[in-house]
Amino acid sequence: MTTACPECDNGLTVGSGTRLSEILECGDCRSELEVVSVEPLILAIAPEAEEDWGE
Ligand SMILES: [Zn+2]
Repeated sequence: MTTACPECDNGLTVGSGTRLSEILECGDCRSELEVVSVEPLILAIAPEAEEDWGE
């Protein structure tokens, strides 16, 4: 599947096993992108949560 980065419009290829809420990284602008819909494939900029995990 292919889609475009919502941040920089870079073309992205994602595996067919991609699931809802999966976080992908744009190889161009390094934005973290959350899968908000699989069919059709829609990505959104993921909120930054660097130190927010593991509590
Ligand atoms: Zn990008």
